[in-house]
Amino acid sequence: MSERPQTLGELKRAGYRSLSVKEELRNNLFRKLRAGEELFPGIVGYEETVIPQVINALIAGHNMIFLGERGQAKSKMIRLMVNLLDEYIPAVKGCEIRDDPFAPVCSRCRELVKEYGDELEIVWIHRDQRYVEKLATPDVTVADLIGEVDPIRVAEGRYLSDERTIHFGLVPRSHRGVFAINELPDLPERVQVSLFNIMEEGDIQIRGYTVRLPLDILIVATANPEDYTNRGRIVTPLKDRFDAQIRTHYPLSREREIQIMEQEARLPHTEGLRIFVPSFMKEIIAEMTFVARRSPYVNHRSGVSVRMTIANYEAAVASAVARSLSLGEQVAVPRISDLAAVFATAAGKVELEYTSEEKSVEELLETFVLEAVKAIFNNHFSPDDFQPVVELLEGGAWIEVGDKMPSGEYMDVIQAVEGIAEKLSCLADIRVPGEVASVVEFVLEGLYSHGRIRKIPEGSRYTYRGRI
Ligand SMILES: [Zn+2]
Repeated sequence: MSERPQTLGELKRAGYRSLSVKEELRNNLFRKLRAGEELFPGIVGYEETVIPQVINALIAGHNMIFLGERGQAKSKMIRLMVNLLDEYIPAVKGCEIRDDPFAPVCSRCRELVKEYGDELEIVWIHRDQRYVEKLATPDVTVADLIGEVDPIRVAEGRYLSDERTIHFGLVPRSHRGVFAINELPDLPERVQVSLFNIMEEGDIQIRGYTVRLPLDILIVATANPEDYTNRGRIVTPLKDRFDAQIRTHYPLSREREIQIMEQEARLPHTEGLRIFVPSFMKEIIAEMTFVARRSPYVNHRSGVSVRMTIANYEAAVASAVARSLSLGEQVAVPRISDLAAVFATAAGKVELEYTSEEKSVEELLETFVLEAVKAIFNNHFSPDDFQPVVELLEGGAWIEVGDKMPSGEYMDVIQAVEGIAEKLSCLADIRVPGEVASVVEFVLEGLYSHGRIRKIPEGSRYTYRGRI
C-alpha cells in the first residue's frame, strides 16, 4: 500500500487512468472470461440461465433487477459482482463519497483540487468498501437513501442551497461502487422518485433544492416478480431505468438442490462421532421442498426457499447426532423418524394459503414428508420388492421404530426376512447398524406410503403392522 501513489501528482506520473464503475466491471469481466475464471463461485444451477444474462447486462453496462421468490441466491449473486471491481481505486482523502481525484463531483473536492493541484492527497479504497446494500421497507426515507440537510452545517452559516449542508445518504455514499436495493417495490413512491432523479439526471433533490451530483453507480435491485409487475408498486420511469430484468429460479433438479444443500449446510463436528447421510435421505429432504413448492396449500408468491432444504438437512442430522451421543453409537445416520425434527425448521419457511386453514402446518408437513418418501421409494424400489415384509406383518409380526431406538435393534429385521439384505445392500452397507436402521425405516415408510402396511404412533415411537 505504501508504494501506491499518495498524491494526485504521483497518480498522474504513474499513468493511472480512472474508469467508470461500469467500465471497470466490464474490463475485469473480460479478463476473467478470457482466463476462463469462474465468475460466480458457489452459485449452483444458474450456469445456463441467470449467469449468461448477468454477463450480458455487465457487458452492456446495464443496471439490473433480479426478479425471484425468496431464497434464490439473488443477494449472493449481487455480492459476488463486487469481485469484478478493481481491488483498490484511488479517492480524494477525506471525501464522504470517495471522489475520483481526476474528476471529483462534490464541491469540497473540486475546491481542494483547485487549491492543492498535484499535491492533493489521495487514499486507496478496497473493493469491499464499495458495496452498499439496503433492504427496502415502507419506512425507508429520502434522508436514508439520498440525504438530508444537516442543521449543524446550516448553523455554521452555510446556505441551504450549498451542497455542503447536506448529510449524504446511502446512494451518494455508493458513488463509484455498487448499490443494491432489495425488495424495491416496498420503497415508498417518494423515495422511488428520488432514486429515479439520481439515476436519470444525476440530481439530488432535498427540501426543494436541487444539487447536481453526477454519481457513478451500478444499481442492482431485487424484487418479488408479482410485486414488480403489480400496477402501481413501481413508478414507471424508475422501472425503465433497470435495463436488464433477470428472472431467478429455484434449482431445476433435485440433484442441484442437493448440491446446494451439501455446500451450504453446517454440520456439527463431534469428536469420535462420524456423520453419514445416506443418499436416499438427502433425496427425501430435497424432494420434500419440491413437494412444498408445487403444493396448492403453500403460498407461491413467497415461494419455498432452498434455505428450507438446508435447515431441514441440518435438523435431521442433529437428531441423529443427539441419538448417537446418548446411545454411544459411533456413526450418526439420519433415518425417517429423525424427520420429525424438520417440523421445527420447516414450519417457519412455508407460508400457507389462506384457503388452507383446514390443515395445520404440521399436518401439511407430514403429508409433504410422506409424499417425498413415496417419490424416492419409487425411484429405487417397487412395493412388490418387499412382499415378504408385507406378509410377515400380515402374519401378526410388527416392527417398532423411533428416533431414540438403538440402531442394533433394526438388525433383527434383516435376519427375520429372507433375501431382504440383498435388496437393501444397493442403498446401505448392511454391516453398519446405523445404515441398516435408516434403510429399514425408509422401506417401511415407503410401504406405508403405498398403503401396503399400517403405521401406528405410540408415544415417540411408531409401530408398523400388517393391514387387518
Ligand atoms: Zn468529494
